[in-house]
Amino acid sequence: MDLRAVRGMKDILPEHVGQWHRLERTFRAAAERHGYAEVRTPLLEPTELFVRQIGESTDVVEKEMYSFERHGDALTVRPEGTAGVARAYVQNAVQGKEPVSRWYYLGPMFRAERPAKGRLRQFHQAGCELFGDPGPVCDAELIGLVAEVVGELGIGNYRIHVNSIGDKAAQARYREALRSHFAPIAGSLSEDSRRRLQTNPLRILDSKSPEDAAAIAAAPTATELLDGDDATHFQALCRYLESLELPFVVDPKLVRGLDYYTRTLFELRTTTDELGAQSALAGGGRYDGMVESLGGPAVPAIGFAMGLERLLALMPEAGAAAGPHCYLVTLGEPTLATALGLASRLRQAGLRVELDARAASLKAKLRRADGLRATLCLLLGEGELGRGVVTVKDLARHEQWEVSLEEAPRSLGTRLAEGPPPAGAGSRPG
Ligand code: AMP
Repeated sequence: MDLRAVRGMKDILPEHVGQWHRLERTFRAAAERHGYAEVRTPLLEPTELFVRQIGESTDVVEKEMYSFERHGDALTVRPEGTAGVARAYVQNAVQGKEPVSRWYYLGPMFRAERPAKGRLRQFHQAGCELFGDPGPVCDAELIGLVAEVVGELGIGNYRIHVNSIGDKAAQARYREALRSHFAPIAGSLSEDSRRRLQTNPLRILDSKSPEDAAAIAAAPTATELLDGDDATHFQALCRYLESLELPFVVDPKLVRGLDYYTRTLFELRTTTDELGAQSALAGGGRYDGMVESLGGPAVPAIGFAMGLERLLALMPEAGAAAGPHCYLVTLGEPTLATALGLASRLRQAGLRVELDARAASLKAKLRRADGLRATLCLLLGEGELGRGVVTVKDLARHEQWEVSLEEAPRSLGTRLAEGPPPAGAGSRPG
């Protein structure tokens, strides 16, 4: 077949969706326990939003955005969630309605990166954004929330890396320090890094090119240059993280590849090598200047996003999904209309029902009921139709009986409420 999914974009088949639901449920419940409410923003945003917020000289903007023009508008399929959420916050003048807003989101993001293990072109993120609190208590609490979700998913073996790059003034000082460090050795740097030396030397630190590695390792760190309120903020954050007993390390080389960050930066990384080079499960930071730069007032903000595919790869398998309560097998054309009505009434009574109206053999249909791990198999043949009943087979208990069509929803509901047979009372054939 010629037509295949776009490279780096994956189908999520029903057999895997149970795990996705578990992950999404866990995230939502944790976020809601912390007072976050869901926000849903468009997948498409003006290209300008990402260029200005993420930064012109970042990998995301330079190489990875899916951008196009339609009816004269320059549009981009969102590569991340924060810029769109902040745009929505400003556009809806939310700061005038409440002093602090806690919002979360879930959904697909798109980046034309080189696909690899743990790196896709359409991937999914769950994230939280907190507007209106300058921290550092809420910074620690937010990092705690990430750890809570990861822990509840059954993922251990992780470490939280934290750093601070200070406010915009500290970052300007840091850029100068980096320029002085890299300029004399510019000739040995990769082409991208030579360019970034002019545009934004901070972004040299994102480089994965081997020729840049030694120069990056020897570069000054932002943490060394922190002073005043920036330093106090970071020291307090570390103290609060200690009091939460979180497994964190100060990582002065953590800069994360986006321009909008101020002060706090963090990443939660797995310490196993199951994801190859992609060890970051979640990342985030403070972005105190974004709301103002979008035309709003000066509202401080912090957020994070976690990569759902990476979390799923590390989550222990849960048990198999529940099968249908009733697998309704029709035998012959005259039974079909009655079967349709019966299935509908059973569902109205709250039962999960699958109707098998195929022209297949009884044997094939029973095999399918068993394969789906249905609790009850209902047989409706012309004999049953004549008597106004349906035959019920309890597949685990090896019992069989008839109930009237009229009584079926109530009677089967009661039977199913009794739960599975006691251990040793019978086993499922096959
Ligand atoms: P970022 O927005 O780059 O800070 O990413 C936040 C999280 O999203 C990362 O820690 C990853 O878990 C996940 N992530 C980012 N990019 C990708 C990708 N291309 N494929 C899969 N997951 C990703």
